[in-house]
Amino acid sequence: MAGNTPLYEVLALRFGTHAGRPARDNFLTDEGQFTPGSEMPNDYYLWVVRDGRHLVLVDTGFPREMARRRGRTLFRDPVDALADLGTGAADITDVVITHMHYDHAGNLDRFPHSRVHLQEEELRFCTGASMRHRVVRRPFEPENVAAAVRGLYADRLVLHRGAAEIVPGVTVHPVPGHTPGTQVVRVPTARGWVVLAGDAAHLWANIRLRSPFPILEGLSPMLDGYDRIEALADGDDHIIPGHDPQVALRFPALPGAPDWSCLHEPPADSPVGATAAGARR
Ligand SMILES: [Zn+2]
Repeated sequence: MAGNTPLYEVLALRFGTHAGRPARDNFLTDEGQFTPGSEMPNDYYLWVVRDGRHLVLVDTGFPREMARRRGRTLFRDPVDALADLGTGAADITDVVITHMHYDHAGNLDRFPHSRVHLQEEELRFCTGASMRHRVVRRPFEPENVAAAVRGLYADRLVLHRGAAEIVPGVTVHPVPGHTPGTQVVRVPTARGWVVLAGDAAHLWANIRLRSPFPILEGLSPMLDGYDRIEALADGDDHIIPGHDPQVALRFPALPGAPDWSCLHEPPADSPVGATAAGARR
């Protein structure tokens, strides 16, 4: 990292969970990584990237009504929880949407003043013919797609065709596989380059075992994506998977705001492989 690179804080909010989820449902292949019949929850996160001058939200979570409809548990309203940081939706200049699945792209109507950054390929996908397949469209919500399109017509949606800089030093990178337009966010921090992987990696164990989460649009691109995010990050602990309960357990809580974890600080333990929930080598 160059000496003049600005450094940011990266904060993760664990705002919900999908408890009781069978471990088997988190992996495309059985590499002996779970006990048959065991459970492995998926947690729901969004992320804030900030320094004294910039405030970027990565993904927007989903509202309580959506949690009820899909049988998920919401601990906090994720937009209201921004108040813990002394901020709110009106202060967020830039929102990065990693991909358009419901758990990452809800609540967009609550950020009417923010620029929203999305890969053009993702918008094409979720408005295209692939959505005629029920199983493909199941993780999408038409109201979220409509909100993105409304942002386009209001000059608020910024469609990227590849890597791009969002604020100085913070970049997005396409990592297709989970969806064709999934992007990850690379952030310079005091401990090195941190990559918010979104659903380019659900769990640390998906990366370690090279066994993807089974919602995917391309197996080889997904596996290539693991190589890509490893190349972008300064180590295994610098890759932040999108749904791993261990993220909230391993990284230190923000003083005064215990629901937020400080990803710009080193995790309490290491290595990642020894602690991935429910996983064993
Ligand atoms: Zn997700």
